[in-house]
Amino acid sequence: MTVGFIGLGNMGLPMARRLLDAGHPLTVFDTRAEVLERAAGLGATPAASPTEVADRAETVLTSLPSLQAAAEVAAAVAGGSRITHYVDLSTVGAQQAARNHSLLAAAGIAALDCPVSGGVRGAQNGTLALMVSGPRDAFDTLRALLERLGRPIFIGEQPGAAQTMKLANNLLAATTLAATAEAVVLGVKAGLDPNVMIEVFNAGSGATHASRDKFPRAVLPRTFDFGFATGLMVKDLRLCLQEAADLGLDLQVSEAVGQAWETALADQGADSDFTTIIRPIEDAAGVIVDGRHDERNGRS
Ligand code: NAD
Repeated sequence: MTVGFIGLGNMGLPMARRLLDAGHPLTVFDTRAEVLERAAGLGATPAASPTEVADRAETVLTSLPSLQAAAEVAAAVAGGSRITHYVDLSTVGAQQAARNHSLLAAAGIAALDCPVSGGVRGAQNGTLALMVSGPRDAFDTLRALLERLGRPIFIGEQPGAAQTMKLANNLLAATTLAATAEAVVLGVKAGLDPNVMIEVFNAGSGATHASRDKFPRAVLPRTFDFGFATGLMVKDLRLCLQEAADLGLDLQVSEAVGQAWETALADQGADSDFTTIIRPIEDAAGVIVDGRHDERNGRS
């Protein structure tokens, strides 16, 4: 099976690398020349456009940052001469996914929407959760390929169903990161040690992915380099809240979480790492959550 990959960012490049390492010759495209060069250095063949990728590859995977990019790329690959299957690993919401499915089906291309969870480390290690919706036979055909990236879970045949699943997942991820940031700022303001707080959460009922992974790796050491942009998290939350509104739901916690992330976006900017959500909370409280060892006061 010839494979193409479009969108070689934080997630796309490590996923492309895993496919190359598994022995799939890979044709790639990105709008940024520097990442195309990096992919070429790993053994991929750069193409000049998404359509050229779809002229060379039967299966084309994409990992893109916006609904607009996903729509443009889907329209471009629909004109490719070789493509038979399309897998969108981006988070674009159910409506955009359904539009892409229709456009591609009209061109005789089987499309799977396949948003992922597990972050950059999951992309590097092949431990992503892959939520898949679309034609079941296309899923069966591509299952072994997707297993190189992680654990594919079939959500249903309805286009966009996997997107709804992914948005529900990210609502939880956004909520626990925002809530953990508030809880730790509260404790530090009251004089608690943030390292001890995270240790206690992880030994008790406050444990979440935020306390187990995001705080130890990117907040307590003040590196803020987890690998997911604040702008992308806000994209996902807006899509999620829109789906809730379309379903006639009034979700009070989710609305409040959405507001907290809009504040983080305004304060830290779209390109900031999403772990910086703690910074405006710290500023308002007048504290800094610093878990690095400090020789002066003996903290660790
Ligand atoms: P990113 O911004 O790091 O990468 C996106 C890449 O797409 C960039 O290299 C960019 O140059 C390229 N691009 C943009 N427009 C393009 C176009 N029209 N044609 C070709 N290439 C184009 O984003 P990311 O963090 O890798 O996320 C990609 C997708 O995966 C997003 O939908 C995001 O919501 C989702 N996601 C990200 C993470 C994460 O931890 N980073 C986790 C799960 C899901």
